Amino acid sequence: MKFSITSKGDSQSNALMHKMRTYLLDFDLVYDESQPDIVISVGGDGTLLYAFHRYSSRLDKTAFVGVHTGHLGFYADWVPSEIEKLVIAIAKTPYQVIEYPLLEVIVRYQHGGKESRYLALNECTVKSVEGTLVMDVEIRGEHFERFRGDGLCISTPSGSTAYNKALGGAIIHPSLQSIQLAEMASINNKVFRTIGSPLILPGHHTCMLKPVNRPDFMVTIDHLTLLHRDLKSIQFRVAKEKVRFARFRPFPFWKRVHDSFISDAD
Ligand code: NAD
Repeated sequence: MKFSITSKGDSQSNALMHKMRTYLLDFDLVYDESQPDIVISVGGDGTLLYAFHRYSSRLDKTAFVGVHTGHLGFYADWVPSEIEKLVIAIAKTPYQVIEYPLLEVIVRYQHGGKESRYLALNECTVKSVEGTLVMDVEIRGEHFERFRGDGLCISTPSGSTAYNKALGGAIIHPSLQSIQLAEMASINNKVFRTIGSPLILPGHHTCMLKPVNRPDFMVTIDHLTLLHRDLKSIQFRVAKEKVRFARFRPFPFWKRVHDSFISDAD
């Protein structure tokens, strides 16, 4: 089996990375940065997001596992004191793979420029470069509303505990093939109206945002921020690709939600 390790880059994460690499090589696993079967991320959720994007062109052949060197992460749920156990599990046991849905984002430009396609593990946010974001929201090809406000956040189920949660969105179990649209400070008064509630769309529904006035936007895909000019539309739907996590022990989603947000000591 081929593996690679991505580190957050601090001294603790780097030391753990070197230790795991040595142990796994001792077990006759092959270190392969370009075509790994398993990618170990050492750091936090941000490190796993980085690793995900690094290997996003071969998601069907790669499984991820995360070790956290800070607080418990949503994607990074192994602690440094468990790495010997994790190494043995990786080397010796056929691991189970669990798959989570991803968000597909397609950005199209005015004047017919080539469209850009992205996959997000957590979410995509859209904000205006300057002033209020004004965008028409279409769902399944039908006009739904004209949004005015700070921005919109479209998240995956596993990303629903990240930015989406801070916006009052619902936490969605990752077994539900869905995406969620949450508002950032919408303008609501006698003149302007938005739905005001987060919307959860099933796998076969598409959401499209179309600029009303200014065509330039700040678009984030997970931890990446991109400036898009002359934008015609942004389309969102559940991607056909999935992210695969190597599972060596049960850690149910709702327990992770509990341990991350309520308390980790029972
Ligand atoms: P960062 O260093 O600013 O960390 C953001 C925090 O989000 C970290 O504590 C991380 O553990 C947590 N996080 C990331 N994914 C999560 C998930 N799926 N569930 C629960 N918590 C999660 O930035 P980063 O580490 O590069 O991560 C980028 C992410 O930060 C974005 O995808 C976005 O979700 C999140 N973010 C959140 C807010 C907010 O809550 N107001 C604002 C901006 C970005």
